[in-house]
Amino acid sequence: MTSIPATGGPALPQERRLVTAIPGPASLARLERKKAHVADGVGTTLPVFVVAAGGGVLLDVDGNSLIDLGSGIAVTTVGNSSTEVVRRVTEQAAAFTHTCFMVTPYDGYVDVCEQLAELTPGDHAKKSALFNSGAEAVENAVKIARVATGRDAVVVFDHAYHGRTNLTMAMTAKNMPYKHGFGPFAGEVYRAPMSYPFRDGLSGEEAAARAIDVIEKQVGATNVACVVIEPVLGEGGFVVPAPGFLPALAAWCRTNDVVLVADEIQSGFCRTGDWFACDDEGVVPDLVTTAKGIAGGLPLAGVTGRADLMDSVHVGGLGGTYGGNPIACAAALGAIEEMRGQDLPGRARAVGELMRSRLEKLQAEHPVIGDLRGRGAMMAIELCHPGTLDPDPVRTAAVSAYCHQQGVVTLTCGTWGNVFRFLPPLSISDALLDEAFDVVAEAFAATA
Ligand SMILES: *Cc1c(COP(=O)(O)O)cnc(C)c1O
Repeated sequence: MTSIPATGGPALPQERRLVTAIPGPASLARLERKKAHVADGVGTTLPVFVVAAGGGVLLDVDGNSLIDLGSGIAVTTVGNSSTEVVRRVTEQAAAFTHTCFMVTPYDGYVDVCEQLAELTPGDHAKKSALFNSGAEAVENAVKIARVATGRDAVVVFDHAYHGRTNLTMAMTAKNMPYKHGFGPFAGEVYRAPMSYPFRDGLSGEEAAARAIDVIEKQVGATNVACVVIEPVLGEGGFVVPAPGFLPALAAWCRTNDVVLVADEIQSGFCRTGDWFACDDEGVVPDLVTTAKGIAGGLPLAGVTGRADLMDSVHVGGLGGTYGGNPIACAAALGAIEEMRGQDLPGRARAVGELMRSRLEKLQAEHPVIGDLRGRGAMMAIELCHPGTLDPDPVRTAAVSAYCHQQGVVTLTCGTWGNVFRFLPPLSISDALLDEAFDVVAEAFAATA
């Protein structure tokens, strides 16, 4: 076993270095222990056991250094163990770890809510409530919308992913692995068609009219409490709706007194090259859910929105034992400071340009790449049998396995499992990113 380096974070050597097969013998031994003690339902994409991470690399127990193109699923946007996050978390842990904000409050929680009001779309009066996970934030957004409107129905979209709790399973589209066998699900959840330019060829206005028709005819506008949408789909395939789709939906919500909830849990906090994906078209949602990238790896989530909506809930109606834990809040304040100080929206755009140029070249060489899409450091390619819209999950899995063996952490997604998503930490160097895409290119050539 290699010793754990004294310093992870940005000080780790920024290199891809393979000293064993992936996974190596030390990881394989630990995988046996995992099999013995961890429920099989908890899967792993790439079973190397990590001892340190930072910048753009993960270091494993065998001494391999892997390039990270996944950020722990859009979480370590500021990098792993970033300086400000580590400093503030360490100080906060030494001061106090928990009081429960509902019992005796502390500044960090209020500071995060103040930042959320400033950073989320729109300059109206806003308030926030903090939670532990994205799913919890989505559930609470629905609770708030129902109280505020006195209505029940929740509208979600094809390919949506909103979490794994009972209500959010109902809101999530994909059966396997998220829902299979776990029903019955929460009621009053209705699904509308999403704008998916590669597959439907519709303009944003046409796709919005199609969705609104379903809502009006199958649910009824006056029954709808909220429309919940990921402004750029996450797990569902990094689908970017056609321009005009979100503004048309927002206008319909406004006209019909329906609460528009933007689930920015994956797309928010600089990932798309803006602070939030809604900023791209100037869409101002009534409520925004955040998690993942907000706190540099610590568990924190939020619902932020119009003060009148947020305040419609009776005192004591929102909360939870750990929601807005002081250490998680300290991490969020550190992450936000780094995002501001280092202009991470700008960095995300630069990373996006680099990835797009590499992927355009790859698409020209490999007709299996049917679509290239995304925004900023949230980029994807969809693999289909050439000249068709038939998904090719087999080739997708083969390319992914090759990348893993060569020390690049890649993630797939999409309803058909045929989408590669690229979402590196924004602390990755251009050189490392280039090297990772050399490996992706090799993987396409090797599996042709
Ligand atoms: C990950 C995710 C969630 C759920 O967040 P958890 O923290 O895993 O509960 C909800 N919505 C979106 C868009 C996500 O990407």
